[in-house]
Amino acid sequence: MKYRLPFLDRRRLHDRAYRAQQRDQSEVCGTLMCTRSGVLRLRFLKNQSERPGHFEIGSAELRALRQSKNGTRLRVFGTFHSHPITHAVPGHGDIRGARTGELMLVYDVCGREARLWRIVRRKGNKTAVQLTLFTVARSGSLVMAPNKPLNLPAVRVRASGSKPGRGLAAPR
Ligand SMILES: [Zn+2]
Repeated sequence: MKYRLPFLDRRRLHDRAYRAQQRDQSEVCGTLMCTRSGVLRLRFLKNQSERPGHFEIGSAELRALRQSKNGTRLRVFGTFHSHPITHAVPGHGDIRGARTGELMLVYDVCGREARLWRIVRRKGNKTAVQLTLFTVARSGSLVMAPNKPLNLPAVRVRASGSKPGRGLAAPR
């Protein structure tokens, strides 16, 4: 699947994430929808966490969205959130709070880059693997994102710490 983030969605994500970062180092978040052809759409939701550098989506809100069959081409495939000061790599709490199989888009405000991940289970651990993400330039041409290589820290969380069925919640 060729996942693509449209130009306007990317710009909106940067603008909102940047404003939140400047205001109080907070994060923006929401659900990630996807068309059948791989076009990603962002639906912003209120960040329920009041701690800087954390996010929390109301689990009732998330559940309702996951279950909604509104007849459109869009389905909820995961979540997105911003990192005000760190790389676009899911943190331990991010992975712990996500469901296996879901997509997770993380936006690094400082580096101005988005990375797309999928939460998978490997050898009993939940972890995140990076997917190739394209952004659509203003001209309409596809640009592979990000352009910078990343030295990945170990992104792994013991699966025993997870609670299946829980909505995505902030790390504590
Ligand atoms: Zn995070």
